[in-house]
Amino acid sequence: MSESYDRYLGMDRPITRRDFMNGAAMAIGAAMLPNGAFAASPAEERQNQAGYDPPVLTGLRGSHPGSFETAHSLRDGTFWEDAGKPSETGETYDLIVVGAGISGLSAAYFFRERAGSSARILILENHDDFGGHAKRNEFHQGGRLQLLNGGTLLIDSPTPYSPVADGLLKKLGIDPPEFQKKFADHKLYAGLGLKPAVFFDKETFGEDRLVVGTPGRNWDVDLPDDNREKPSAWSDFLSRTPLSKEVQRDIARIQEGKVDYMPGPTSAEKKNRLSKISYRDFLLNVVKANPGVIPFYQRRTEGEWGLGIEAEPALDCWALGLPGFQGMNLEPGAAPNMSYSAAGYANGGSYTFHFPDGNASIARLLVRALIPAAVPGHTAEDVVTAQADYSRLDRDGDPIRLRLNSTVVGVRNVGEPSAAKGVEVLYASGKQVFRVRAKGCVLACWNMAIPYLCPELPQAQKEALHYLVKIPLVYTSVGIRNWKAFQKLGVQNISCPGSYWSGISLNAAVNIGDYRSPTSPDEPILLHLSRTPNKPGLPAREQHKMGRYELLATTFEDFERKTRDQLARVLSAAGFDPARDIEAITVNRWPHGYGYEYNPLFDPDWPEEKRPNVIGRKPFGRITIANTDSAATAYTDTAMDQAYRAVQELGWDRARRS
Ligand SMILES: Cc1cc2nc3c(=O)[nH]c(=O)nc-3n(C[C@H](O)[C@H](O)[C@H](O)COP(=O)(O)OP(=O)(O)OC[C@H]3O[C@@H](n4cnc5c(N)ncnc54)[C@H](O)[C@@H]3O)c2cc1C
Repeated sequence: MSESYDRYLGMDRPITRRDFMNGAAMAIGAAMLPNGAFAASPAEERQNQAGYDPPVLTGLRGSHPGSFETAHSLRDGTFWEDAGKPSETGETYDLIVVGAGISGLSAAYFFRERAGSSARILILENHDDFGGHAKRNEFHQGGRLQLLNGGTLLIDSPTPYSPVADGLLKKLGIDPPEFQKKFADHKLYAGLGLKPAVFFDKETFGEDRLVVGTPGRNWDVDLPDDNREKPSAWSDFLSRTPLSKEVQRDIARIQEGKVDYMPGPTSAEKKNRLSKISYRDFLLNVVKANPGVIPFYQRRTEGEWGLGIEAEPALDCWALGLPGFQGMNLEPGAAPNMSYSAAGYANGGSYTFHFPDGNASIARLLVRALIPAAVPGHTAEDVVTAQADYSRLDRDGDPIRLRLNSTVVGVRNVGEPSAAKGVEVLYASGKQVFRVRAKGCVLACWNMAIPYLCPELPQAQKEALHYLVKIPLVYTSVGIRNWKAFQKLGVQNISCPGSYWSGISLNAAVNIGDYRSPTSPDEPILLHLSRTPNKPGLPAREQHKMGRYELLATTFEDFERKTRDQLARVLSAAGFDPARDIEAITVNRWPHGYGYEYNPLFDPDWPEEKRPNVIGRKPFGRITIANTDSAATAYTDTAMDQAYRAVQELGWDRARRS
């Protein structure tokens, strides 16, 4: 792109450091102890520096620079070449938890319930914040607090929350159905006449065109039923697109037609056939649609599974609500050979609630329950605006301690695994390595990293753990001065089937505790942009690996330029000026995002005991394994369920504490 176009976009504007006083203070604190440095004692830990407040940081977040390099050098076999000799901390605990995501925090919670309130627990986390994927993005535009999820979006799962997970939510004071009724504001945008839209880009569709009023169910945001337009609106909508007449006709047929494309077989037989072909094949070979419809649908499945429609079974797409099946008389409910998510959604799914910072509020409530001084307040409502005090997370003498910026590089049983009475854990802060000891360890970290931390695991278990390739995603939060352009265009969320970001949406309106979402288009607001990088045509797990490389190779500058360019192309007709109107950008990059879910088109239909996640999560002496990877899914309830199982497997009770 030319220099003058870059200037138009505002690439020269110093937005990422503007107006964010807390962020600046944290940057100073961090500068005192750069990534290569280490803390010789807790008092010197970065998290104890004045102004340390990761949620307010903008720029490249998610797996931020400084969080993953140690783990990657451990994987590459280079870490120990220049790492220092481990320093003895002299610290001993009842339990060490590796990973401060929802699963690790839940493991600490369940362990304390089981072992008693004096249980001594250390939680180690390689990122500069706790929560794992449940990441809080905090902005202070014009002095007003605005929140968005940097990762885990909401309480919502394909299956009802188990008694364990639902029980934990209740203990934390969260009542999703009640909160959904009381705090979610579904009327704001609809009341202003804002609708879903599709942006057709010239590289894919021949010209840039925004078409407002996508009929039917909105793909990004759940609209209340009474806001859903009638399907008959499709031909009107399509007539305003740059698509050819043939493609328009076939999309209308897919969306509205009531054709049985497989007449004859029973519903069960049809489901069986649909489970063996991709949705793309279904559209092209069963519906016999014009190939020109594919770019319109290709990315519809990315938000759920990280893959396009060529790699997702037609049956799973039916369960997800994609069109084309209306006339096929498929009976409701799951069938054999469906993915976890599809089978769950076919049977109904769980309750739903979105905190303004996503499930980061759950992580903050868990930290409050474990270390009350770190997150002041008493209710699930007041946690949303509570200011966390990171310097309270790791205090000498406290029974539960949470240590950030600490990558675990070694975990081993002391003695033979079958007879071990304890574990030794090594963690690195920069190149400095520290040793801590405990009676047991829960690995709530990413399962594919475990073979590098525990090289003594049986080979078959290591291979199973390696199988679980996480799905890469990037969620970007953009602070803009106002949303007058959205009002003028009449749009709330925009699907962009051919563009770099596959979706752009106004922050969901939620009013909870003292937190208030913006109500006037004149006010600043946050936008949510998402992308799921993949390489259509490759097998599922290869696509995820390629997507991960793409994310790691993309600089913040590249993300920023793509963001500004796309927002300009979509919104500038309504007066949006990217240089003037964009105030902050936080790119939450997740090269290791969703936990891997088995895909019926690519994975064998293993019996339960042969599944890589089941083999991979076997206890190893005093070491047990949690994380959503252990369930081969990517949901908060399973993060909790797996934590509970891993804690029970430690076989701990009060009588055995001495
Ligand atoms: C972008 C995105 C959106 C999502 N949206 C939803 C949603 O809307 N609803 C939902 O239910 N789920 C969602 N998920 C799935 C999400 O992964 C789970 O809900 C849950 O948050 C996972 O928790 P976890 O503790 O198992 O894993 P994580 O959150 O990944 O936590 C594991 C932690 O272990 C740390 N770790 C790894 N290795 C080491 C090491 N060697 N030393 C120290 N620490 C280590 C990691 O850095 C990480 O912080 C989403 C995920 C992503 C990425």
